[in-house]
Amino acid sequence: MHTWNEEVDVLVAGSGGGLAGAYTAAREGLSVAVVEATDKFGGTTAYSGGGGMWFPCNPVLKRAGTDDTIDDALTYFHAVVGDRTPKALQDTYVRGGAEVIEYLEQDWNFAFEMLPWPDYFGKAPKARLDGQRHTMPTPLPAAELGELRQSLRGPLDTDRLGAPLPDVLIGGQALIGRFLKAISQFPNATLHLNSPLTELVIEAGAVVGAIVERDGQRVAIRARKGVLLAAGGFEQNDELRQRYGVPGAARDTMGPWGNQGRAHLAGIAAGADTDLMDQAWWSPGLTHPDGRSAFALWFTGGIFVNQDGKRFVNESAPYDRLGRNIIAQLNDGTATLPYWMIYDDKEGEVPPVKATNVSMVETEKYVAAGLWHTADTLAELAEKIGVPAENLIATVERFNKMVADGVDTDFGRGDEAYDRAFSNGEPPLVSIDQGPFHAAAFGISDLGTKGGLRTDTAARVLDKDGNPIRGLYAAGNTMAAVSGTVYPGGGNPIGASVLFSHLAALDMAVS
Ligand SMILES: Cc1cc2nc3c(=O)[nH]c(=O)nc-3n(C[C@H](O)[C@H](O)[C@H](O)COP(=O)(O)OP(=O)(O)OC[C@H]3O[C@@H](n4cnc5c(N)ncnc54)[C@H](O)[C@@H]3O)c2cc1C
Repeated sequence: MHTWNEEVDVLVAGSGGGLAGAYTAAREGLSVAVVEATDKFGGTTAYSGGGGMWFPCNPVLKRAGTDDTIDDALTYFHAVVGDRTPKALQDTYVRGGAEVIEYLEQDWNFAFEMLPWPDYFGKAPKARLDGQRHTMPTPLPAAELGELRQSLRGPLDTDRLGAPLPDVLIGGQALIGRFLKAISQFPNATLHLNSPLTELVIEAGAVVGAIVERDGQRVAIRARKGVLLAAGGFEQNDELRQRYGVPGAARDTMGPWGNQGRAHLAGIAAGADTDLMDQAWWSPGLTHPDGRSAFALWFTGGIFVNQDGKRFVNESAPYDRLGRNIIAQLNDGTATLPYWMIYDDKEGEVPPVKATNVSMVETEKYVAAGLWHTADTLAELAEKIGVPAENLIATVERFNKMVADGVDTDFGRGDEAYDRAFSNGEPPLVSIDQGPFHAAAFGISDLGTKGGLRTDTAARVLDKDGNPIRGLYAAGNTMAAVSGTVYPGGGNPIGASVLFSHLAALDMAVS
């Protein structure tokens, strides 16, 4: 028998979506400890500007008058994910979001609203082009968090650029803030920073607790009902990225530094089966002077060109589809890094990117780092970025002709609702004809890895024979993603993390 230092019903490793599991466990009357590896609660979830959750037909959307149905949402999700993940798991996700919102809304600490956000496969059957499957947390005054305010991760500009903390929490910060506040009302719940879970303790084939490092000490915590691993992905661990073949690099991920995959490794050591380990949530990344390419979207102009000075993608496609397309072309040599956004001076010297997630800094810094270039003519610009001038000129001429015609016959930019979401519903085609001309360097970024421990519909981790490992649960990016190799809609990552954490806790409450 193990010697325990502490004892709880439920141990939750990770404080992003995992807080939904901690909250549910506490509300269901279980004692719970959250252990967070880093010095702040919130993980990547707290970095999300939207904190959006893809939860079709939930009460918030119904109150807003949606005519969506669960059957339509199931049709869509099945069509885009296919049979890459178990159908029962997909059904649980699509159906479960409504219940989790209903559960949370019973507590006055939670409030949500609809943020219309078109599905990411606009041509798939029953895609919701008006975006009525997406819900976000209502902003929260930071002061309501009291002492916990200083323990909340983010926003990204604070962590990366030293920006002051905001007075009002929005998006993922509001979601995490609301969970922290709600958890604090339960005396049977405790929250611990700087406490990474490093090992699981197994007795007679069941997970009965875990070893957590705290202040340099090994603390053995018994978990009578189970351990929930909701510790994000392993995007910050280059060694694991290489081992599992995840394109990109820790430098360019958006996940915070604690997402090293230690919980994945602990689960694997406990006999867990894994899936989708080479997968991530992808995006193009605007390269900043610190050398990191960061998730960028909402382009109000510009085209991407490769090393041949030729367009090679639909620049306005949903970011994960765009990222995957670029990675495929990096792999076959059609593109190399960096690739360039070419734009004119209509909006000035700064690239027409409205959501950089990490704010742009002074132009001189990009210029000094060789990331942004300006020239009076396209020929001179081509020379500065090392692409054939005749190709760049021809590319821009051809693009301008398509702009005039209103149709991108090369890459279909504007063919789907998402492409047009940031251009008032019009095709996002803007001519490049007003000098001086500019080029900005781009790379590949990711929002985190999404491969992990295989689970059943109650978030119970499965062994290699497909049997649940007693006492072990996983959710979010520590779990093999229900969405497989695609990103069906905004709000899938946080939605899946919140829902499966919640379901894990409910399962522990009845076990
Ligand atoms: C700018 C931006 C915007 C985004 N917008 C959205 C959006 O609107 N909707 C959406 O669905 N997704 C969005 N995403 C993606 C989403 O934020 C993440 O994929 C998701 O939040 C991951 O949740 P998680 O609970 O799995 O992990 P995380 O939120 O990353 O939390 C994991 C936590 O576990 C901790 N941890 C790691 N290892 C251990 C360990 N061994 N022991 C204890 N703790 C550990 C980490 O330090 C971290 O705090 C966005 C991402 C970014 C960067």
